[in-house]
Amino acid sequence: MDNCLFCKIVDGSVPAEVVYRDESVVAFKDINPQAPVHLLVIPTKHLSGVSDSSVTEGDTLNKLFKVVADLADKNGCEKGYRVVSNCGEDGGQTVPHLHFHLLGKRHLNWPPG
Ligand code: 5GP
Ligand code: ZN
Repeated sequence: MDNCLFCKIVDGSVPAEVVYRDESVVAFKDINPQAPVHLLVIPTKHLSGVSDSSVTEGDTLNKLFKVVADLADKNGCEKGYRVVSNCGEDGGQTVPHLHFHLLGKRHLNWPPG
């Protein structure tokens, strides 16, 4: 999709510290990390977010969550981690391309602010 920051990271026109890539999933380090481990796991296909009507089609979510769990293992999150997808204005979503934040290696407070 034109003018989507994360589509540009997928196609390589915007640089990112990519830690995982296959034909349907890309994961990279968040530019403004909120925890020692802060990765963004996204589909290569543009979906606007959790509320996108196509989000449950096919095996997109299965693949994303498999990568999330593998990256948590590989990045030493054995004490636990958090997976977050901010959705829409009230949810605090700033990039309208579906993404899951993987946060780990520090204690995370609950409830969020
Ligand atoms: P959201 O606010 O939509 O839940 O998450 C968007 C995330 O993308 C934020 O945590 C923000 O720090 C990250 N981000 C914004 N621009 C860039 C960028 O150019 N590169 C990377 N790696 N992360 C970005
Ligand atoms: Zn996109």
